[in-house]
Amino acid sequence: MDMDKTQKIKNPIRFKTIPKVCSWYKKMYELNLWEVDGDKRTGVSHGMCPECHKKHVAQYKADVEASGEKKGASED
Ligand SMILES: [Zn+2]
Repeated sequence: MDMDKTQKIKNPIRFKTIPKVCSWYKKMYELNLWEVDGDKRTGVSHGMCPECHKKHVAQYKADVEASGEKKGASED
């Protein structure tokens, strides 16, 4: 058995707390634990806060309905 390749695992992954910022309003809305490679510098993570997500989904649904919803929705 040659394990030399798998023995090399030296896991440098750490967890850091990274603020998640909403891309829409640049509002910090959450702190997340992220896996970070070693001591790699980190910044903030961008996402969509639940508030914007709600608005966005509502807008998206309205758009889909307005466009006639040609492709049958598989989910309801
Ligand atoms: Zn937001």
